Amino acid sequence: MSDTTLFDGSATVGSVPSGDPRAETAADELQSRAPQQPQGLPDSTGLRLLAVHAHPDDESSKGAAMMAAYADAGAEVMVATATGGELGDLLNPAAAEIHQCHRDLPGVRREEMRRAAEALGVQHVWLGFTDSGLPEGDPTPPLPFGCFAALPLEQAAAPLVRLIRRFRPHVITCYDESGGYPHPDHIMSHRISVEAYHAAGDPQRYPDCGQPWAPQKLYYDRAFNPGRLRALHEALVEAGIESPYEERLLRYEKGDRPDWLTTHEVTTKVPVGDYLEKRDAALRAHRTQVDPEGFFFATPNDFLREVWPYDDFVLVESAVETELPEYDLFAGLREQS
Ligand SMILES: [Zn+2]
Repeated sequence: MSDTTLFDGSATVGSVPSGDPRAETAADELQSRAPQQPQGLPDSTGLRLLAVHAHPDDESSKGAAMMAAYADAGAEVMVATATGGELGDLLNPAAAEIHQCHRDLPGVRREEMRRAAEALGVQHVWLGFTDSGLPEGDPTPPLPFGCFAALPLEQAAAPLVRLIRRFRPHVITCYDESGGYPHPDHIMSHRISVEAYHAAGDPQRYPDCGQPWAPQKLYYDRAFNPGRLRALHEALVEAGIESPYEERLLRYEKGDRPDWLTTHEVTTKVPVGDYLEKRDAALRAHRTQVDPEGFFFATPNDFLREVWPYDDFVLVESAVETELPEYDLFAGLREQS
């Protein structure tokens, strides 16, 4: 079954006479504004997705609308958060005025995470590790003793293997090898995800962590891919709205790209246009970490719906046949069940 037969009601772009460059430009424009791609997800009852994240709030800034969309389509969706985010800063000026945020930040962040999961309609577990913090300085100081990123891989991956064998996800999403952001906990989250993806189905590995279960597909998150930033930037400029991406794009164009910025091509675009408000609610639930006037809310949702109503991923492992590009993380799995 091809992907397109799973959907109906997708927008179509009118045919353009060849040889007319103006018509071609118009068609390109139309293609980028109203892509001929599915606008919703098929019924996902019986399918399970696990998203692995480093800190509470990461799940709301990367792939949140995707998770809300799958939960609404009937899938069981679980977020695993590696650390408690104990070393996070207070990033919302309004929260910095609340005493409890200084006295008990980990406690406040646990409650924020509970509300975010509720807003998205997903399940949530803590893997139980301690935040490593973002080392700053030259040379960078050593990691705190016993923190998540300083642990041996097998010790750090064991709780995730146990969770995979209990929850039995078909699909796992995680960060790429650079962490998507050069925080030691993000890089470690990538490492335990890849380790657990491969080990969970092997009865010889992690024998004390439950009955083997082999997940079928592994994806890296591509929330901040250059194509998306460029498309949003151009649409905002055209509409006379200040673009939060300008400085970053100019830097990249001058060749000033940070070396952690990987170039994985997006393979999979999940339609999330109807779930952007749920993502916003989840972000706002992380009151200490997310400024409601900040970057994540700088692009109006109506713009996102028109220009880029997708959460983007790259398929890196698959035990099932699938056709790229995909518009569904479970593509190839529905045919099996
Ligand atoms: Zn993080």
